[in-house]
Amino acid sequence: VVPEGGTTLSGYWLPQVPQILRHYNVELVNPDAEWTLTDYWFVKQTGLIYKEICQVHEALAEDVDLAVQASQNAFLAWSNIDAFQRAIPMAKLAQLILRDAQELAELDALAMGKPVELLKKMDVPAAASIFSYYAGTAYHVLGESSLNNANFLNISVRQPFGVVGLIIPWNVPLIMFAMKVAPAVICGNAVVVKASEKAPLSSLKLGSLIREAGFPPGVINVVNGFGAPTGQAIAEHMKVRKIAFTGSVSTGRKIMRMAADSNLKNVTLELGGKSPAIIFEDADIGQAARAGQHCQANSRVLVHESIAKEYLTELKDLVSRVSLGDPFTKSTFQGPQVDQVQLQHILRLIEAGKKDGTLFHGGKRHGTQGSFIEPTIFLNVPTSSPIYQEEVFGPVLIVNTFTSEEDALTEANSTDFGLFSSIYTRDFQRAISMAKRLESGAVGVNCSVPLRALDMPVGGWKQSGVGRELAMHGLNNFTELKTIFMKYGDDSKALAYNWHCE
Ligand code: NAD
Repeated sequence: VVPEGGTTLSGYWLPQVPQILRHYNVELVNPDAEWTLTDYWFVKQTGLIYKEICQVHEALAEDVDLAVQASQNAFLAWSNIDAFQRAIPMAKLAQLILRDAQELAELDALAMGKPVELLKKMDVPAAASIFSYYAGTAYHVLGESSLNNANFLNISVRQPFGVVGLIIPWNVPLIMFAMKVAPAVICGNAVVVKASEKAPLSSLKLGSLIREAGFPPGVINVVNGFGAPTGQAIAEHMKVRKIAFTGSVSTGRKIMRMAADSNLKNVTLELGGKSPAIIFEDADIGQAARAGQHCQANSRVLVHESIAKEYLTELKDLVSRVSLGDPFTKSTFQGPQVDQVQLQHILRLIEAGKKDGTLFHGGKRHGTQGSFIEPTIFLNVPTSSPIYQEEVFGPVLIVNTFTSEEDALTEANSTDFGLFSSIYTRDFQRAISMAKRLESGAVGVNCSVPLRALDMPVGGWKQSGVGRELAMHGLNNFTELKTIFMKYGDDSKALAYNWHCE
């Protein structure tokens, strides 16, 4: 069941909602569907018309069990073939993703509201590049070797875990799918991957492309469903040896607990962010303002007091030109929020912003239908405000000013997150010394997140994550190390020497 402009598949089901809605003369296209409490509240407020796109199978614990079993059956053969044979279907999959770019983009736009054109420009090519990159790493799953002990050749080798569980969020479904599946599978693991209940459609299409690409059955298993029971069944499964998760901090904590309480599975986590951009007085203001527009990347801007006015004029000009609307329209830059739960979360934080800071732009829902929010900018928000500390994950930007480098640094590091930071300055020394002291997994100098840089590790410091993805770090995440000690002769002389030293 989806409202126009987003999906709603989460929350508490309330079977009596359709009757209540009829009472309010709300038109229901599929009255037999189940409804959530939030849906009810929202529909009552807006008189929104809902329509059904399709129904998606929900994997229960027994279905997850079947998927794990299928992975286990496929694992031995998959991990024992020559590495290049694993690369062949993976390289083919990259091509198929590009071939079906339009359809993949439309499926994600339908599910989570991101404009088709942006998906085609960013998400689809990024997903294809990740599969293509990891296809090329098939022969780079390497360990170390040592002749440092007399009469020994010692080596370490990297081997796959076996069955790996992958759980991904809704915001960039194609990229997340690729970032998890490609490195896990190229080094010989078999996987069970669960897409978000809010954006499950492209993962199903990828499932069919995976088959077409020629992966053996059981190597990549796609399941769908909610956090509980589906995600939970993966995280708690005794035969899943490793779990890689991307999502919110609170779910990340649960995943870690479940991993610990089941079979102590190895865990990597990519979690939330509250990324700061520090703009110094010598920055290229136009460039800095354009980066600030990508609220997902930079949700806090710290601008030097002396250029704040000029920066805000530039920013306002850019933001007021943001085309907000139907994700299927070519000129749209910003689509709807993913669902009402997210809409209400953002509106709650916007209210906190209005109380604690100064509203500079936007600050409300856009229109009366769907889940659109105006791009919103707040000024002078204290670091203690919920909108400063919590992840908004919507088109909301905070702009505060600073006078000294030290103050900017302290404020930039003042949240629990540490995903990404950026610095805008023409002073190289300042850029590098700030980059060193910022507490985040990545730092941009005169840029925001370069989505195309897929050969560099990404990940979070502090509560933004555990471990790294992409590049060779991403690959190594999905292997266990094994050391093999090989004795090739008589080492009595080496032992005698040790004895003598003592
Ligand atoms: P979420 O944590 O609600 O859900 C993520 C996934 O976890 C979904 O598939 C969901 O079904 C599953 N899940 C939920 N509860 C679970 C449970 N108890 N057991 C197992 N699985 C469970 O996150 P979301 O709202 O889908 O995504 C948004 C979040 O993802 C934001 O916090 C964002 O910052 C983060 N994110 C981080 C990165 C990164 O690179 N660090 C990238 C994208 C998104």
